[in-house]
Order: sequence, then structure tokens, then C-alpha cells
Amino acid sequence: MKAVVYRSPRDVRVEQVPDPRIEKPTDAIVRITSTNICGSDLHMYEGRTSFEPGRVFGHENLGEVVEVGDAVEKIKVGDMVSAPFNVSCGHCRNCERQLTNYCLTANTPGIAGAAYGFADMGPWQGGQAEYLRVPWADFDALRLPEDARDRQNDYVMLSDIFPTGWHSTEMAGLYPGDTVVIYGAGPVGLMAALSATLKSASRVWIVDRHPDRLRLAEEIGAIPIDDSKVDPVQFVLDQTNGWGADCGCECVGYQAHDPMGQEHNNDTLDKLVRSVKFTGRIGTVGVYVPQDPKAPDEFEKQGKVPFDFGLHWFKGQTQGAGQCPVKRYNRNLRSLIHGNKCTPSWIVSHELPLERAPEAYKAFDARESGWTKVVLKPQMSAS
Ligand code: NAD
Ligand code: ZN
Repeated sequence: MKAVVYRSPRDVRVEQVPDPRIEKPTDAIVRITSTNICGSDLHMYEGRTSFEPGRVFGHENLGEVVEVGDAVEKIKVGDMVSAPFNVSCGHCRNCERQLTNYCLTANTPGIAGAAYGFADMGPWQGGQAEYLRVPWADFDALRLPEDARDRQNDYVMLSDIFPTGWHSTEMAGLYPGDTVVIYGAGPVGLMAALSATLKSASRVWIVDRHPDRLRLAEEIGAIPIDDSKVDPVQFVLDQTNGWGADCGCECVGYQAHDPMGQEHNNDTLDKLVRSVKFTGRIGTVGVYVPQDPKAPDEFEKQGKVPFDFGLHWFKGQTQGAGQCPVKRYNRNLRSLIHGNKCTPSWIVSHELPLERAPEAYKAFDARESGWTKVVLKPQMSAS
């Protein structure tokens, strides 16, 4: 089959790789019909992780089941399913407690948590390919309703960014009527804004410097803050009598940079501390890494962040962080889509055949204007 293979920093190619097959009786094989490029792929694409050359990218996957193992009881051939980016067994101590983001079985011993096509997240191939092996299929695959084939660009967001945006508002403790400030208006930040809106936040501020992304946030009622023009902390303080937002979401991660492009891995974390109120909560879903050999300075190379813990402590704030437990939310978010309460596809800018993945990676990585979210369609003809 064809798949998007990582070769070296900023070099992905569409190559022939072996078809996945049923390896355990609990597996299913899914023919991928929609698979997104994610900001998480970009950390790997840029060579800022230990992702191995030759491996296949893709953890935001949707498709049709074409084969199931003998022990699969619920999932049937022909079902349209969403595969959470977390690979999880369903029976370990963490999965039993809904912590499928830290499954104890799916990665190598000593590391909790696994994902498809992801650095340090186990051996699982990615789904930017014609087919994907989904292990523990009865537990991991979420069946989609009858409108799934027509509304793939909505449902494909269930595998990662819609639950992840939602999770950041959960960790931020967002309650109806609260105000929230979100750093990052990439796909994840936009989904955090959508989630905050669905949860009836009274005001949603979102900080970025890309006008096209800020415009999408405005379309759902968020208040854009262009940090290349104004100080986002002061802006929020001015609108809250100097106190700050009730809560905050970090949707950028360790490659946070100033509008000129200079990286500071503490930038958004420190700004959140300053623009969230005393006792406010912060949900950090942007990725941070234990080692970052290509970071701009020695301290950051060790994965360390010069974080303003003093002010964070003084303000009595709390913070949640880590990968999103997609399964905790995807069933209900599926119902919100099916019930026409939201259309997360509003951020999709490009639907492309797999063959065009190299140019899509290049443009999305450069955050070229108009490249907000790419959905690859492996069944779409390249011509
Ligand atoms: P993205 O790179 O497309 O978007 C990030 C946005 O942040 C960009 O628009 C960029 O302009 C903006 N930005 C950069 N520095 C900034 C700063 N200092 N202040 C304000 N905005 C800034 O990526 P994405 O797909 O939206 O993903 C965002 C982060 O979420 C990534 O780190 C990704 O790996 C992570 N992620 C985490 C999970 C999880 O489960 N925790 C899941 C998916 C993605
Ligand atoms: Zn993702």
C-alpha cells in the first residue's frame, strides 16, 4: 500500500510499504478514507523528536473496517470508525480509570501511553496510508453513525484535536459563564475555542499572529488577539479589571516563539500565568518533551523550561498537562456532531490525495496563510 513515510527532517515521501495484517485476534484493519496532518506531526517532521526514518506518520484517522480478527465482537466489516490517536488496551489499571492516554500495555515497558505514528509512543504505524491496523479494536474503534461517509471532515476531528481542545478546557476547569484565554489558534487552539463556546464560556480570547487562523476563531465568536500588534497579557488584564481570565488553555507547546520566530519554550506558559486570575486553572495540551537536542539553548536542550513558578504559586493557580484521553470524550463529541450542535470541519482548508502529502507538510509547516488543516484522502485519485 501507499503511505507517508518520514525520511529526514522536512522530507516525507509517499512510498510503497507492506500492507498491515491481522496480527492478533483482537485487531481490525481499517481502510483509511480521511487522515489529518497535525501540529504534532510537525514537531516530528522538523526533526525535533526521535521519530525514526522509515516510519509512517498519521494519528488522526477515520475509515471503513475491512477485516476483523476472530476475537472482535462489536466492530464489523463495513463499519465507519474513528480511531483515537491513543492506542490503548482497555484492561490495564490506567485504561480502567479512563486514562487511556497513559495505557500501561501499549508502549514498551516503563513508558505509559502510546499512539499511531508518533515519536516515543510505541511501535504503531501511522494512518497516513491506505490501510491501518487498529489493535484492541472493540475498545479502540469508535463506530460512527450513518452520516459519517458524508460528514467525514467533521468526524475525522474526533480522533484527536476536538477531544484535545475539549480536554484543555476540562483541565482548565471551564464552567459555563467563565472567561477563558487560549494561546495558539492552530487547529488545537481553534478546537479549544469551539469547546469553550459549546460549554457557554462568557468570553473566549484567543492569541496568535496568523490573521487567517484568528479569523476562523472570530467566526465562532471568539475574540482574536494578534500578539504581533498588542501585548496579549495586557489586553486580557484590561478587559477583566486587572484580574485576568477565569481560566486558560495552552495550545502551542514547546516550540512556542515570538512573532519574529525566535523560540522561547516558556513563552505561552508564563503569559498564561500572567493573564489568568488568582486561583485560576490552566490546561496545557501543547506538547513539551523530556529532551529537545535541537533547542536554542543548553537548558532547553534538556527539556527544561524556565517557568515562572513563583508567580504561578503566588496566584494559587493549578495546571493540568499531557496527552488527551480521547476515549473519555469522543463518544459525546460524536453526538454533538451528529446532533448538528457543531461543525468542527469549519477549520479544514485542504482535502488532498495522499500523493500530495509532501507539499501539504511543507505548506502547513510554514504556517502558510490559508493552510489551517489538511485532510488527506487516500482513496482520492492523484490526478
Ligand atoms: P500548530 O503548530 O498548527 O498551531 C500552533 C499555533 O500556535 C500556530 O498558529 C502558531 O502561530 C501559534 N503560536 C506559536 N507561538 C505562539 C505564541 N508564543 N503565542 C501565541 N501563539 C503562538 O499546531 P496544532 O495542531 O494546533 O497543535 C498545537 C499543539 O498541540 C502542538 O504542540 C501539538 O503537538 C499539540 N497537540 C497535543 C495533543 C495532546 O493530546 N496533548 C494533541 C494534539 C496536538
Ligand atoms: Zn494530532
